[in-house]
Amino acid sequence: MGTDCLFCRIVAGEIPATIVRETATTLAFRDIDPKAPVHVLIIPKEHYADVATLAEGDPGLAGEVLTTAAVVAEEEGLLADGFRLMFNTGPYAGQEVFHVHAHLFGGAPLGPMLAR
Ligand code: AMP
Ligand code: ZN
Repeated sequence: MGTDCLFCRIVAGEIPATIVRETATTLAFRDIDPKAPVHVLIIPKEHYADVATLAEGDPGLAGEVLTTAAVVAEEEGLLADGFRLMFNTGPYAGQEVFHVHAHLFGGAPLGPMLAR
């Protein structure tokens, strides 16, 4: 993949991001348009379009994305009050960036799970 994928370009250092955690295989950075006091995106460095493709193609890497998300939740002080982890997938979910990313939300009550 590479140059035409926004998040591959962040991995490559071609587009700046506020990185909060990096491992050999994953990257966590602040969402540019935060929807909660804490809003971090966690991605595998390797390109997969969505969580279904990632889980099918590399379940171990999917687990590493979850582990990084949990570590960031702890580092951001979210464990006591809780947090939400979300993978938008496909058009009904409004996925805009087709490089799989977990949204980590926290820092305030997050409201109902879905808008009505
Ligand atoms: P989704 O709708 O699940 O695909 O979410 C894409 C997310 O990426 C949105 O929450 C955007 O605010 C976020 N986003 C878009 N561009 C950037 C960027 N350059 N750096 C950080 N977050 C971004
Ligand atoms: Zn990508």
